[in-house]
Amino acid sequence: MRGLDAIDTVGVVGAGTMGSGIAQVATQSGYEVVLRDIEGDLVDEGIENLTEGLDRLVEKGTVSESEAERMRGRVTGTTDLADLADADLVVEAVVEDIDVKRDVFADLDEVTDDDVVLATNTSTLSITTIAAATDRPANVVGLHFMNPVPVMKGVEVVVGEKTDPAVVEFAHDFAEALGKETWEADDKPGFVTNRILMPWINEGIRAYDEGVAAREDIDRGMELGTNVPMGPLELADHIGLDVCLHASETLHEELGDRYKPAYLLKRKVEAGDLGKKTGRGFYEYE
Ligand code: NAD
Repeated sequence: MRGLDAIDTVGVVGAGTMGSGIAQVATQSGYEVVLRDIEGDLVDEGIENLTEGLDRLVEKGTVSESEAERMRGRVTGTTDLADLADADLVVEAVVEDIDVKRDVFADLDEVTDDDVVLATNTSTLSITTIAAATDRPANVVGLHFMNPVPVMKGVEVVVGEKTDPAVVEFAHDFAEALGKETWEADDKPGFVTNRILMPWINEGIRAYDEGVAAREDIDRGMELGTNVPMGPLELADHIGLDVCLHASETLHEELGDRYKPAYLLKRKVEAGDLGKKTGRGFYEYE
């Protein structure tokens, strides 16, 4: 395994909400980043997101304009898998679909050196199943960043059946090198966070659908009544309703009926109202 001292270049696969955030915090910490998606437009969008994130830091006075410029300069976008060949570590953040992730890991196994750690940002899928698509399951680990990555302090390290303890330690160290704090979970559906968060979100959606309260009152009730920064409907819009539905379906399949996705969640996703990213979910956005 390549240790923390040997990490210069971080490959990030998937330039969406999470991938662009992971790329941003990696370059902020001084790493070279290769950001890959399947189409040029998606790579450009990811780099645009990341640049806006760096611009916000300049506005806040956290970094200078020239520092932000250097950070942006360390990120290379690509659609070509071969460009990940020089990565010392790869973090995967593609769509939450086991077949897609297994294909990506089989490809990464081919293209990267054998001692490179391959980490997945999956929210609910099995690290062990993803690792089994490679010839290096000991070097596969879960690095579950939270959304929005540049803002959220925590990273969940998830340990697969075959993950080497040294790789687990490396995952904690790398997350800390990005300025994050970590906790560890076994490879069980939803790990700690989504196992507990998804039923909470689904119950908020059901309460709304069943007319318990107006959407604003459900969110305000949970914010003021339980001291969380955001209620379930607003949080679902931020995460993406499609992401919530996928996560809920996986948990339902693995853990049974108490994890059944709310009907209204499915209906919104079918209608293409995926939350903040499409401008409409439970609320409307500019
Ligand atoms: P997203 O839809 O915003 O981005 C996914 C990106 O992956 C898309 O740009 C897509 O084009 C790309 N992609 C698909 N197949 C690919 C391939 N073969 N190679 C390269 N890129 C490919 O999704 P997201 O919200 O960023 O989620 C990514 C992962 O992070 C998922 O596993 C999700 O469960 C997890 N996650 C999401 C959140 C959240 O709040 N959104 C939080 C924690 C973890």
